[in-house]
Amino acid sequence: MTVADNLKVVEQKIKDTCLRADRDPKDVKIVAVTKYVSIETALEAIQAGINHLGENRDTGMLEKYETIGGKAVWHFIGTLQSKKVKQIIDKVDYIHSLDRLSLAKEINKRSSKKIRCFVQVNASGEKSKHGLAPEEVIPFIQQLNDFTMIEIVGLMTMAPNTEDTNLIRSTFQKVKSIQKDVQALQLPYAPCKDCSMGMSNDFEIAIEEGATYIRLGSTLVGKEM
Ligand SMILES: *Cc1c(COP(=O)(O)O)cnc(C)c1O
Repeated sequence: MTVADNLKVVEQKIKDTCLRADRDPKDVKIVAVTKYVSIETALEAIQAGINHLGENRDTGMLEKYETIGGKAVWHFIGTLQSKKVKQIIDKVDYIHSLDRLSLAKEINKRSSKKIRCFVQVNASGEKSKHGLAPEEVIPFIQQLNDFTMIEIVGLMTMAPNTEDTNLIRSTFQKVKSIQKDVQALQLPYAPCKDCSMGMSNDFEIAIEEGATYIRLGSTLVGKEM
């Protein structure tokens, strides 16, 4: 299967799911997660018509950026150490892993353009997961008023890696509900209209629960390393 073949399958699933969920497929954007694949495969994704690429490490992103550059919109989806911010900040468009004030400060200090950020939420409470606890999200966002280079476009989460679809669904529902609460605050720097949730194994549930960005690695571009 080529990336283009995989994309057709994924797009059909998005369409079917949106039909069920009474949503417009245009409101679901695909971020192709290229962390497991080569530059060639990432380019294949671009040629297949994907324009959002996601990487979870600074090294992986910088390597691909060198070749692909402005042909993609770049999403940083992994845990971000503050000291790595300056390497990626002029190349990245979206950061999905904002989870602390020190990181916000560093992004704000280093960037010369507005960076679209998702606040990462650990909605399942698993110790292994990064992100803010649900009750910390609003107080955190309220502290970001003075960070003129940061726009809070939404919330990001990862569901537990489980077969229990009810648990996955309830995780997404929790995040969607917090996203709506933030949106209702009408903070000019935090429109918070988006939810980045859903990966290869759970994106259909995420779409049913209101995801607007889904992050797809293995099912879309495969896994080469
Ligand atoms: C790797 C990764 C993905 C994609 O994972 P797949 O299961 O291969 O789709 C999505 N989001 C984050 C944060 C990741 O690290």
